[in-house]
Order: sequence, then C-alpha cells, then structure tokens
Amino acid sequence: MLVRHEFYIGGAWVAPRDGRGTADVIDPSTEESCAEIALGGQGDTDAAVAAARAALPGWMATPPAERLALVRRILAVYERRSEDMSRAISLEMGAPIDMAREQQTPCGPWHIGNFIRAFDQIAWEAPLGAHAPEDRIIREATGVCALITPWNWPMNQIALKTIPALIAGCTMVLKPSEVAPLSGLVYAEILHEAGVPAGVFNLVNGDGAGVGTDLATHPGVDMVSFTGSTRAGIAISRNAAETLKRVHLELGGKGANLVFADADDKAVARGVRHCFNNSGQSCNAPTRMLVQRPVYDRAVATAREVAEATRVGSAHEAGRHIGPVVSRVQFDRIQRLIEAGIAEGARLMAGGPGRPEGLNRGYFVRPTVFADASNDMTIAREEIFGPVLSIIPFETEEEALAIANDTPYGLTNYVQSADPARRNRLARRLRSGMVEMNGRSRGAGSPFGGMKMSGHGREGGVWGIEDFLEVKAVSGWGQEAAE
Ligand code: NAD
Repeated sequence: MLVRHEFYIGGAWVAPRDGRGTADVIDPSTEESCAEIALGGQGDTDAAVAAARAALPGWMATPPAERLALVRRILAVYERRSEDMSRAISLEMGAPIDMAREQQTPCGPWHIGNFIRAFDQIAWEAPLGAHAPEDRIIREATGVCALITPWNWPMNQIALKTIPALIAGCTMVLKPSEVAPLSGLVYAEILHEAGVPAGVFNLVNGDGAGVGTDLATHPGVDMVSFTGSTRAGIAISRNAAETLKRVHLELGGKGANLVFADADDKAVARGVRHCFNNSGQSCNAPTRMLVQRPVYDRAVATAREVAEATRVGSAHEAGRHIGPVVSRVQFDRIQRLIEAGIAEGARLMAGGPGRPEGLNRGYFVRPTVFADASNDMTIAREEIFGPVLSIIPFETEEEALAIANDTPYGLTNYVQSADPARRNRLARRLRSGMVEMNGRSRGAGSPFGGMKMSGHGREGGVWGIEDFLEVKAVSGWGQEAAE
C-alpha cells in the first residue's frame, strides 16, 4: 500500500507538523484501501500559507512572459507523466483506465494549452482610453489563493485553478479532495520538476472540516477558489466572510436536456451516454431529459436500450465500460435517491437499486432510467451524482423552458432541435452559465461556470485568468524616457 504522508510546502516534501491523523484512500472497484495520506492540521496550513505569502512579492513581480514560460514547462512534464497520472486517477476515483487515459488525464493539457493561448489577450498594463492619456489600468495578482478541489474530475479542476493562478502571478495552497488525493501528489511532483519557485505552489492534504476550513478562515489567504458541493460552497462563503476574501465557486448542477420532436436521430442516445459518462459524476451532466410528446415513447425506449447496453466494470479493466462511483457515501446516497424515484412514482425503465449482476463488491451502480418523472420529484430536484437519468415529458417550448429553469441550479443546459431560431431563443432564456446545443461541446477557451446555486465565477480561457487578477486604476501615469 502506498503511504504518502508528506505535504509539499516551500518547494520541498515535508512531514506533517501537527496533522489530524491519517486517512485511507479506498479503491472504489475493490473497496480495499490502496493508499494512506496524512490529514493536515492548523500548523500545516499555517506553514503553507506562510510559504505562499513569502513567495508572493517576488512571483507577482516576475514578467508575465516568464510565468508563461514556466507553464509551458509544466505542460511538457505533465505530458511525460501522463501515464502515472492516469493510473493515479483510475485508482483513487474509479475511472476505468482507458477513460482515465482518454478523458480524465487529458483535461490537464487541454486547459493548459487554452490558457497559454489566452495569455496574449490579457492587457497587463493598458491606457484607460484616448480621453485620459495619464490613466493606466494595471492588472495584478490577487495574492495568496486557497484552491480546494473535488474528486470527480481531479485534474480538470486542479489545472483550471493552478495554471491561471500561476499566470496571474498568484501564489497558492492546493487542498485536493481527501477522497482522491493521489493525482494531486503526482501533479505537485510535476510542478516541482518544471521548476516552480519555492513557495509559489504548496499542497496540503486534509478534509473539509480541517484544512478546508483552516484555509477558508485564514487571514493570510486573499482568495478561495472552490469546486465541489453547494453545501461546502455555502460553508466556505460564510467562513471567508470574516476576512472578506474573494470567493470563487463552481458548484453542483441539475442540467436539463431539451429534446424537441425535430431533434436529430442520435440526440437521445447521445444525451443518455453523456449523463452516464464518468458514472454520472459530473456537475454538468444532463440528468433531466425533457422530451416533447410526439417523440416521447421512442425516446424512452431508446434510453432504456442505451442503459441496458452500458457495461459496468472495474476501473482496472481495459474497455469502454463505466466504473464504480467513488465511495460508499456516494453509493448509499445514489441508492437512496433511486428508491425515492420509485417511491414517488417515476416509471423505472432500466437499472434500479442494488449492484449490476455479477458485481458484488465495489461501488457499482446500475445504469438507471426513470420515465414519467415530474420536475417536483426528488430525482429531478437533487443532484444524484450517479448514472441515473430522469425523463420528463413536455408539450410546448414555453413549458420546456419553464421546467428547465425551475431548479435551484444553473450550470449547463442542453437543447436538441433542428430549428436554429428556436435554439438561439432558448439559449438566451435558459438561466445557466452554459448552454450546449445539438451535441456541440464548447470550444477551446470557453468559460466554464454557473448561475444561482451552481456558484459564480468563470474558469478556463481568458475569463479564468481574469478571475485571479485585481484591476488597479492609476492616474498621473508618468511618461518614462524611452530606452
Ligand atoms: P465536497 O464539497 O464534499 O468536497 C469538495 C472539496 O471541498 C474537497 O476537497 C473537500 O475536502 C472540501 N470541503 C468540503 N467541505 C468543506 C468545507 N466546509 N470547507 C472547506 N472545504 C470543504 O464535494 P465532492 O463530493 O468532492 O464533489 C462533488 C461535488 O462537486 C458535486 O456537487 C459536483 O456537482 C461538484 N462539482 C462542481 C463542478 C463545477 O465546476 N461546477 C465541478 C466538479 C464537481
């Protein structure tokens, strides 16, 4: 079993100072412990924040191009270590190894490349306008950032926070999910090898009640960037209020997928597969499929076929199956929600409670489809975070829009229709940070983030870098002699 008790602080791997004990990392395919980490204490958080504070003046004063050069080196090392990364992710959170190689790990280089391209769009120092020649707008680092990340797309989240923070000139303390901390440790090794200066990037393992809360309340932290549950996002906002930290939140979702009668033939199957991808553990999963009456029966039949054809298996096996869900806690919660769907009268079309046949160990969930759900049922209101789809019928566009927007969340909605005017109309009126239509995923550098209880702030591309920058207005700017 892998034992990794050290934290990465001030450019070196160090033993915990006053840890809160250890935690087992559980392989979700076997329910066996596969690694052990230490949970940091207040002294560890303090040391990491102190290292980040000490490194801040130097790092924020480096020319942005130097910071960009470092990010390019990180990209090169990451690509070389990608197999280690895939194995770590697959083991810690149960992504099948091929899926980890093809989707989870490549999130890192994808975002890093997009940030490198976005770099040129940042106006680090620019005139306010021709009317005010002695005014300058300067963009500078927000300061010391606490980056708190979840287990479901670990490298996606870690890259989306650390890379723009580095480019912006911020220094940081990363606290990866205690459920899936192994990929974060590989990532710290990558940053070390790429030559990140001591103290600019620090990593402390721990749980939400411990290091998470220490960071959110810490007077030495200027900003918290958090991805995770809405529950934790609210707790962090409260804890950060005392010191008026900037708080950036990427939280849960309950995306609607509006399938109109004129949708393309593949729309339903595509939507079901998207919902089940990563075993349903994506904040932007299209978990409520809204289907127009004329194609409703056909859509329900297709969804059932796709669910029944979805193989479930160990993360350690090669192939195109979905893996287990991450933990016993998540498994039990999903089971409860499936039971609630049945009890509240949704029609179970595929899957249901219990494990898939032949799998009696591991957190495996049956790919589940409910038809005839209504938007007030628990399965339509709560984020399930498992391979569970709820299908809701509708008659008119107005009705579909009302159902889609009737949720506390507002992360991603989806529209399937051959009518371009309808698609654009809906894109304007859906209350979510993102709208994806006809199976087109968002392009490189597109901003990711939500509205309402899905949080605020945007990650990725130029918006992702700006989130880590302060805007400073200067008047009386001097004319410096040309060299
Ligand atoms: P979680 O909120 O339990 O944990 C996320 C991280 O926050 C972990 O590192 C955890 O230790 C820490 N944490 C928990 N409570 C905390 C507290 N009170 N103070 C400080 N830190 C705390 O979520 P999870 O179960 O790891 O992840 C699943 C959730 O994340 C889902 O709700 C999902 O929708 C959401 N998510 C959102 C996005 C997005 O970009 N919107 C992306 C991925 C996941």
